[in-house]
Amino acid sequence: QDPSKPPSYISRSRWTCEIPHLDLNTWLFGSPTSPLSTSPIYFDARQPTTHNLSLHTYRSLVKRLAKGLKFQGLDDGDRVLLFSGNNVFFPAVYLGIIAAGGIFTGANPAYTARELAFQLKNSGARYCIANEVSIDTAVQAADIIGLPRSSIFVFDDGFLQGHLNGGGPDRWSKTGAEFRAKFGVRHWSELVAEKDDFVWKRFSTPEESNKTAAINYSSGTTGVPKGVELSHYNFIANAVQVITVQNLDPERKTLETRGIGILPMYHAYGQTYYVMLTPVLNWPLYILPKFDFVEFLTCIQKYQITTIGAVPPILTALAKHPVVKKFDLSSIRSIGSGAAPLPKEISREIEESFGKMGKELRVRQGWGMTEATCTILGHHPLDLTPDQGSVGELMPNCLARIVSSSGVDLPANTPGELLISAPNICKGYYENPKATKETFTEDGWLRTGDVAYYTPTGKWHIVDRMKELIKVKGNQVAPAELENVVIEMGGVGDVAVVGVVVNGEERPRAYIVRKSEVTPPVTADEIINHVKEQCTQYKWITGGVVFVDEIPKNPSGKILRKVLRERAAREVATE
Ligand code: AMP
Repeated sequence: QDPSKPPSYISRSRWTCEIPHLDLNTWLFGSPTSPLSTSPIYFDARQPTTHNLSLHTYRSLVKRLAKGLKFQGLDDGDRVLLFSGNNVFFPAVYLGIIAAGGIFTGANPAYTARELAFQLKNSGARYCIANEVSIDTAVQAADIIGLPRSSIFVFDDGFLQGHLNGGGPDRWSKTGAEFRAKFGVRHWSELVAEKDDFVWKRFSTPEESNKTAAINYSSGTTGVPKGVELSHYNFIANAVQVITVQNLDPERKTLETRGIGILPMYHAYGQTYYVMLTPVLNWPLYILPKFDFVEFLTCIQKYQITTIGAVPPILTALAKHPVVKKFDLSSIRSIGSGAAPLPKEISREIEESFGKMGKELRVRQGWGMTEATCTILGHHPLDLTPDQGSVGELMPNCLARIVSSSGVDLPANTPGELLISAPNICKGYYENPKATKETFTEDGWLRTGDVAYYTPTGKWHIVDRMKELIKVKGNQVAPAELENVVIEMGGVGDVAVVGVVVNGEERPRAYIVRKSEVTPPVTADEIINHVKEQCTQYKWITGGVVFVDEIPKNPSGKILRKVLRERAAREVATE
């Protein structure tokens, strides 16, 4: 250590793991032909006996999709956008695109045409596979950016019955004829080859494994959403890290585990847990196409679900909602939370109510971000004092530092920006070297934009967010995106959007400078309604609209968001 330099307090994980340089499909399935289990692992929670996939049928469908995509002309590195809620086929489409040499990108099925058009264009997607309920939005979005309708495929409930039931000829319950007639789009059965004799390209070197597998969207520390390029190696690394920690519980392999698929698979959290970990850990997963709290509770009771990965609003409902008492939830052994801060009292309430069932259950909160594939911090599975409020310890092979605003390393118990370096950190932002450069330090550390500290025992706490990002029910809302939408209005001269906590939930709040020359002046309702028309629901301006004379900015024109956030908190406290 150079004594003239300030000390560098780098924290290292106390665990290590070996991460193979493979492609995702080889890591998951072993090889294109090795024998695999025929016991179902993915179940449609609404029709589990007829609609399920085993590892064997999962891989077979991956190969058939890869063959079909290649037949349609998919070239190596082409992006394919999946615009759908969860279903049993989602993971197979994901891996089928990747097995064909393509790159997966997924979008929230509730997106508006404007939002989808942005992602289609930004990712340069060659094909869009869209669920039947979202097909009209997909068509509008494709028209906006000039993507031919023949590049859109309806991903409907036209289930491959024969395939699902372990062989026999395919029976598509639907063929998308009505969508073809109405919109000129195609049906995803055209992407599923008859034979599963496809052999994907297998990787064995670091260079090969560094190939991009997926582009997930995140606004990072600033600006509008950007495509986060995640490699095969990134996904394998994060899955191996989580498995290594899970295996610290010696009983893990002997206990029966059943999961419930409620996290969206277009997001890093759902992808890592459902597409990667479920098959490898051999945890049957009951997939719900849409989240409904009562259906969620019904499924936990009916399928004796043992493990739940959730986001804070779901756990708040689990702690507080009176309907919960009507269900027997005694099968649950572990609950994880991520994507946003979980209030300590919610964990405590859940743990206490399970204590009354005579069980020792702990709610374990983790921390992650899209740029880190998914998870970076989590708890030891046997830690019975997870110190609620802490997001756990560093995952295997991860390094972290806390730095002050002037870039000086800070010691334990001192909050500052969390910087991370790990094998699961993304390659950068897709075709956006400027944003990549701004997000990484010169020596390669990812700036998270989160304020955190660590204790001398290696437990981490997230205390604040310094980046612009707003999180609504675990979903990302980029202020810059909403500002771009609002500024289009004729009567708006300037705008800044910040997050404010109302009744325990973060919400977007808009500060508006009206154009004095425009009469009548634009109203709060007009602004709110304009955002409603352009954006999906969780981005709506539900934290209020405030008219101001000017937006506080620094001399170079950057919005002083901290000033506005503090102002918003004060205003909301007295409203
Ligand atoms: P995403 O990329 O959508 O997963 O969002 C990542 C961001 O969500 C992080 O940078 C944090 O700001 C926030 N986040 C995730 N997990 C937590 C947590 N346990 N506590 C506080 N914030 C969290």
